[in-house]
Order: sequence, then C-alpha cells, then structure tokens
Amino acid sequence: MESLFSRIDSKREELVSFTQDLVRIPTINPPGEDYTRCAEFLGQRLAKSGFSLLYERARDTPGDSDRYPRNNVIARFEGKHSGPCVHFNSHLDVVVPGKGWTVDPFEGLVRDGKIYGRGTCDMKGGLAASVIAMEAIIEEGIDFPGVIEISGTVDEETGGYGGVAFLAEKGFFSKPRVDHVIIPEPLNVDRVCLGHRGAWWAEVETFGRIAHGSMPFLGDSAIRHMSAFLELIEQKLFPALDQKQTRMPVVPEGARRSTLNLQSIHGGEDESFSGMPSPLVPDSCRLIMDRRFLIEEEITEVKAEVTDLLEELADSRPNFRYQIRDIMEFLPTMTDANAPVVKAVSASILSILGKTPEHVISPGTYDQKHIARIGHLHDCIAYGPGILDLAHQPDEYIVIDDMVSSAKVMAASTLKLLGVGM
Ligand SMILES: [Zn+2]
Repeated sequence: MESLFSRIDSKREELVSFTQDLVRIPTINPPGEDYTRCAEFLGQRLAKSGFSLLYERARDTPGDSDRYPRNNVIARFEGKHSGPCVHFNSHLDVVVPGKGWTVDPFEGLVRDGKIYGRGTCDMKGGLAASVIAMEAIIEEGIDFPGVIEISGTVDEETGGYGGVAFLAEKGFFSKPRVDHVIIPEPLNVDRVCLGHRGAWWAEVETFGRIAHGSMPFLGDSAIRHMSAFLELIEQKLFPALDQKQTRMPVVPEGARRSTLNLQSIHGGEDESFSGMPSPLVPDSCRLIMDRRFLIEEEITEVKAEVTDLLEELADSRPNFRYQIRDIMEFLPTMTDANAPVVKAVSASILSILGKTPEHVISPGTYDQKHIARIGHLHDCIAYGPGILDLAHQPDEYIVIDDMVSSAKVMAASTLKLLGVGM
C-alpha cells in the first residue's frame, strides 16, 4: 500500500490541474452547457490510461436537444482475471454560479491549499480524486481481478433523468455488470454516506373568480384561499413534521426529521409585469412545495397529510376549490451499514485517516436513488472530499489535502472490494 500511496502523493499537482481543467468547462445545468466537451475531456483522459469508452446520449429525456445533448461517458478497465466490478459515478453538471463570488467561478483559482470554483466541491474535485486513484492502481501495475469503471453523468442537479436514471434503465447500474458503486459527492473525507431522504415536489393551485379590485366582494380571491391553506400548514403540518423521529443519521442534525420548504408562490398580477398593476381580484394562486421525508414514512401518507388539509378547507371554507399536481417524487434510500462497500470504505478511512468514520445520510437526494430503485443495486454509497455545506454556495472550494486523502481511501477501498490483499 505504501508504494500506491506515495504514487498518489506524487500525483498531487496532476490532481489539482485536472480539477482545474474540469472546472473550466462550465457545465451549468440548467440548461446543460458543455456536457459533450466535459464527457469527452474525461473520456480522452481515461482512454490514455487504458480504459475503453462508451458514450451514451440520453435522447428524449428532459432538456435533451441537439443544442444541449445529454451526453454521458462510461469508462471501463478490465483486470487480467474475472472478478467483481467497482464503479465510481460522478455527475458532470454544476449549478449556476449565482451572486456573491469574490473569485472567477470558472477559473479554478488555487489559494491557501484550496481550489476555488463552481463545482470544485460538488463534485468535480471528487471526480478528479477517483480518476487519480484508479490511474495510480493501474500505473502501479497491480494485478487485480475484476473491473474498474468510472462514469461521468449529467443532470444530477435536475433529477438525473438524462444521466444515472437513463443508464440504470439500460442496465449500467445492475448486476452482473456492476457490484459496488461509490459516488464521490462532497460528504466530507471522513464520512460514509449511506443514502438520502425522500423528496416529494408538488404544486397546489387555488382558484377564485376575477372581478374589479375596487369591489372585491363581487369576486373571489384565490390568494385568500391560499393563505387559508398556508395558515393550516403553519398550525398543523409544520408542528406535526417536527415531531417525526428517524433512525436515519441525517446530517446536519436539523434535517434529522421531516421538512417542508414552501418553494414559491404566485398569484394575481404576473410577476414580470411592468408599469402599473391592474385592479383585479386574483382568480388563481399557485404554491410549489418541496417536502423531504424519512425512511419511516410512506409516500402515500406524506401526500395524504397535504391533501387532508386541502379537503378540510374544501369542506369548511365557502367556495374553496383547489387542484394538486405531483411534480416529482423520489423515495428515501439507505444502504445497510454492513454492506461490503460501507465496510471497505470505513476500514480504509480508519487506517488511512486514523479516524472512525461517521455513517451519515444526506438531507437532499442524489443519484443513489436511481441505482437503488432502477438498478436494484444496494451496495452503493456516497464518499468523497469536499465540505457538504459549500455545495451550491458562492466561493465554493475544495481542500487539496482532502482530495489527496480521499484518493487514497478510494484506491485502498477498491482493492479491498476487488479482493486484492496488500
Ligand atoms: Zn452533487
């Protein structure tokens, strides 16, 4: 192992420059900029190390077009003997930089042992660490049985339909092709992430009747109906959600329960109007809800909690009319703490970092849901460098030492899973 680790140490500069190169390809999603360039850049690098490549475009998935093709790359390196397959999956897309940056978000500036830029932490730094780790194993000439795969996939930030979900439908994340999956999302270098909470997004619309704003009693305000609904949410739903306990070790601690975010609300005059507002009673009001739920909760109950409140109003409030529309839903997932990939990575963290790893659950979902639900593969975790709280923030960065440490953990864990004793 010492020789492998010193090889990884010697690849530190390469790790930094590869991360910078990835950050300089601004794969902003939406709309899905530069996916092809990024997938090919990753593919060409891995091809040089002896990987065989497959490019898979997810045609007809949300957002796919000739202008913004959903291009994924899957790279595969076969050992000399047959054996299991360890797969590292990273998403190539990043969210918009947003405001508040003090550095160029797509320059990849290195300062004080950190690389700054959109996607350094979430998750091009993790991707680069996994690539360097696997290249180090190959360069060492370690004679391993089985297969190493690395994929770069798109659209994780918008549900993963054109990325991991698409590939999982095609069997890329199922046995016998793949046995163990590590997703280098930024969950911190000394933690193993077993899965994530569930998510349900829905839109509620209340209806009214249009009238002159000077005589609102002649109409019926959809906004007042919505505010009655919001009041019930405040009085009943939020307190009920706070009471829910879970055995999921979600971090941060505040997310160790059910949560609801009222994501947006629109009623009456169009948001984009200019000039003077018109005197009208609003006949429609729309609310988007983002509900995160626990492994102990059934999605039918999660939905019923909301529709029960709406029905209560329909029974008690004159002229209350509503419509509810599902936007998307993902079930919670949690890999068993005794699964091989959890044990291998935990043991490597302990031996390399000298720390007992924490087993955690992510508050938000990531592509593991598709691997579990579509691929039916349950030996899957997220493990990677990067501080979770920095994801999607201005001045996002990754600590270079953490990338190097996590590359060692990834390399050692891979050899353990392939059954190579060193
Ligand atoms: Zn991510």
